[in-house]
Amino acid sequence: MKLVAIPAFSDNYLWLWHQDGQAVVVDPGDAKPVREVLSREGLSLAAILVTHHHADHIGGVVELREATGAQVYGPARENIPEPLIPALPGAPFQLLGQTVKVIDVPGHTSGHIAYFLPDTPQAPVLFCGDTLFSGGCGRIFEGTPAQMLSSLDALAALPTNTRVCCAHEYTLSNLKFALAVEPNNLDLQNYTAHCKSLRAQDLPTLPANLGNELKINPFLRSRLATVRQSVAQHAGLSAQTQNNDTTLFAALREWKNNFR
Ligand code: ZN
Ligand code: FE
Repeated sequence: MKLVAIPAFSDNYLWLWHQDGQAVVVDPGDAKPVREVLSREGLSLAAILVTHHHADHIGGVVELREATGAQVYGPARENIPEPLIPALPGAPFQLLGQTVKVIDVPGHTSGHIAYFLPDTPQAPVLFCGDTLFSGGCGRIFEGTPAQMLSSLDALAALPTNTRVCCAHEYTLSNLKFALAVEPNNLDLQNYTAHCKSLRAQDLPTLPANLGNELKINPFLRSRLATVRQSVAQHAGLSAQTQNNDTTLFAALREWKNNFR
């Protein structure tokens, strides 16, 4: 199984994996760069996985389906071009010899789902769309902070060696914010230096490693005392409100929304 990040637009990655000449693509916002990879590598497209309804994730679905006959899987509760096979938690399916599990991760959009491949030959793989980013998380457009927090909790519980395939190269700007939240986090300082050198060579910072995210991503660390205190101070939360996990998480997300 080979995992490929196809850059698209200004900062999207369209993730593709292939095995024995067949491919699956996740969130093809644009068909053209996917078709280029398919023809260059001599691959046929077996399936398309969609995490949520935003245009930069579904823009190429119809063209790719029409060109290849690939089956499309996606969230049951969002507006995705039909025909669609609804991907449901509790109903894992097989693609190119891999088990694909579906995880509900509402927050960025109300029906957002993630795909988890637990049994790949190397480490497990997570396609999380715009829910979890390296050093950050998606904006909460349709859901609530409580939903986003519980979605991130579900992802944080996956095996620590999971390869996290985020849909955007937002890492450096996320890490700048993370350092504002946790200036003394050594792992975060080291990871920032590492990612800066990758970006200087025009290399992706992804896939991220889940175990590392647990050490550096403030949105997965919002219950820790250091993060709590930092957010409470920034937002002026009382001792009482800062003990509420959802309030604290909402204030952290709000801080990031306004951070430059
Ligand atoms: Zn999105
Ligand atoms: Fe996106």
